[in-house]
Amino acid sequence: MCEQGSLSDFRVVKAQRYLRCDVCEATVMDASCRLSPEQEREIYQLHDNDPSDPGYRTFLSKLTEPLLERLPSGASGLDFGCGPGPALAQMLEAEGMAVSLYDPYFYPSAVALDQTYDFITCTEVVEHLYAPAGVFRELDRMLKPGGWLGVMTCFQTDDDRFDNWHYRRDPTHVVFYREFTFKLLANRFGWHLEIPRKDVALFRKPA
Ligand SMILES: [Zn+2]
Repeated sequence: MCEQGSLSDFRVVKAQRYLRCDVCEATVMDASCRLSPEQEREIYQLHDNDPSDPGYRTFLSKLTEPLLERLPSGASGLDFGCGPGPALAQMLEAEGMAVSLYDPYFYPSAVALDQTYDFITCTEVVEHLYAPAGVFRELDRMLKPGGWLGVMTCFQTDDDRFDNWHYRRDPTHVVFYREFTFKLLANRFGWHLEIPRKDVALFRKPA
């Protein structure tokens, strides 16, 4: 995650091995425990991201509400890792934003990764990344100066509850971030970090 620390044993839960970084405090699943791409794709297709589901829209609004408060009208953005259903894009477009889609499985558009944006959203994405440091570098490259990166993921807090944590039990979740992890990430790129809601991080690239 930070490319600076070293990983040491953290926990073994039902043959799943997890490591902890001594610098950024990210927790990562050992690479040998990961699913195959085919197994991952099957699970992602089961994700029920129905744009018309009010419960799902309420869930996404934890990110969209504070983000929209900070965006100028008519801003253009990218929903990075949008999954099969573009619910978040629809919600932002209803507020006058333009939203491009990228997802390695469902919207694999290389063109979308070749633009720059006023904002990028990553909801329920970063916990799936095998190489998060490189992805955050790519996101920084795609952000215009003054642009916003909105990340939603369950922050890892209490180590004593890690084994039974619902978020850990999803076998496609391979990296867990603490608030401290995101503070270091922001420092590294010179971004400003705000945490407006539980499990939501808003990073602003300097103008
Ligand atoms: Zn680290």
